[in-house]
Amino acid sequence: MENRTVLISGAGVAGPALAYWLNHHGFRVTVLERAPQLREGGYKIDIRGAALTVAERMGILDEVRRHATDLRGSTIVDAEGKEVATMSADFFGMREGEDVEIMRGDLTRILYERTRNDVEYLFDDSIKDLRQDEGGVEVAFERAAPRRFDLVVGADGLHSAVRALAFGPEARFRRDLGCQVAIGTVPNHLNLDRWELTYPMAGKVAIVYRTRRIAEARAMFLYLSGTLDEAFAGAGWEVPRLLDDVRKSRDFYVDTVSQIHCENWANGRVVLLGDAAYAPSLASGQGTSLALVGAYVLAGELNAIDHRQAFAAYQAQMREFVALNQKLAPSQLKGMIQRGRAQLWFQLRMLRLMPKLPGKDKIVARVLEPIRRAANGIALKDY
Ligand SMILES: Cc1cc2nc3c(=O)[nH]c(=O)nc-3n(C[C@H](O)[C@H](O)[C@H](O)COP(=O)(O)OP(=O)(O)OC[C@H]3O[C@@H](n4cnc5c(N)ncnc54)[C@H](O)[C@@H]3O)c2cc1C
Repeated sequence: MENRTVLISGAGVAGPALAYWLNHHGFRVTVLERAPQLREGGYKIDIRGAALTVAERMGILDEVRRHATDLRGSTIVDAEGKEVATMSADFFGMREGEDVEIMRGDLTRILYERTRNDVEYLFDDSIKDLRQDEGGVEVAFERAAPRRFDLVVGADGLHSAVRALAFGPEARFRRDLGCQVAIGTVPNHLNLDRWELTYPMAGKVAIVYRTRRIAEARAMFLYLSGTLDEAFAGAGWEVPRLLDDVRKSRDFYVDTVSQIHCENWANGRVVLLGDAAYAPSLASGQGTSLALVGAYVLAGELNAIDHRQAFAAYQAQMREFVALNQKLAPSQLKGMIQRGRAQLWFQLRMLRLMPKLPGKDKIVARVLEPIRRAANGIALKDY
């Protein structure tokens, strides 16, 4: 059979999910990960809409639910740590109904365990060079000896190396949303138990939470300008201590909040998947769902037709779904960070009044509607 050996670069969410489906369809799969082992650090992520159907078809939905973060609630605090408003974690995370929140590391582990006995995993290596010809792709690695594959998939995230090699420099595809993020594991000195605290300030926000499944807490800082230190200089509440702890954390991560917009997701025998192709940014809350759905569609199409047609069909089916989800990010970011003091004052007042507002349910429904529409914005084929 043609085109049956596939190299997937990236063992995040998209890579192992694609490995699962390709293996299911009878392909021979190799997954390459730059990190020395599975990257299990990170933050909490959401799975919604069509992605829940994909998880169910993979047979992992029950396990995913068992690993849900199970946060009980979220409190907004002021500079003195006084409660401004408290709400359910689902409302704060804009989830409803069947939606699940899970630590990214738990999801990655579930996908890896599902596939590790059926596909080849190579850790601690990266693609150095790709050369395509009529019949396949010659791949040179940083460490391993060169190998030939029928197809290569770049599922290596926002800063994809495959995209840089086969499509062009990152700057051509990356759109920054004008915000930076810093995240890390920190000691749970606030004694949080399945709870989240958020301290919003003009132009920035500090968040700390602890879920059921982690012993320590995770801190996240979002800021519109300056460096992390500049942005939070002089901030009240627990910010100085959290900043200090996050800097020392073993998994300290800082990046721009960005989207990827590529006109074509395939170039010959190389195709992009997940954040590498169409990162919607963390502000959309939909990156994981796009990755899971994309993996399902790409594998299904590859199994049905020749790779050229399959890549075109994958893009045609996903395009509108991706656009709807990417469109969520700018307005959600505005909800997460208020630019000025007046907007912040107004938002805090609204949040404080929210539980008492007579039309509360309608307001919530109006906020959730675009997310629900985007998360369900694809009719999944039965492959
Ligand atoms: C702070 C933050 C919060 C987020 N919150 C949410 C959320 O609430 N909901 C949501 O849906 N999404 C969220 N996301 C986004 C989400 O994590 C991604 O959109 C999703 O995981 C997409 O998966 P991926 O596999 O395409 O990319 P990734 O998960 O980034 O995985 C890429 C993998 O490729 C590996 N890699 C990188 N370079 C190479 C290389 N050269 N060679 C080999 N391997 C390589 C990486 O180590 C990684 O394992 C968030 C992201 C961030 C940063």
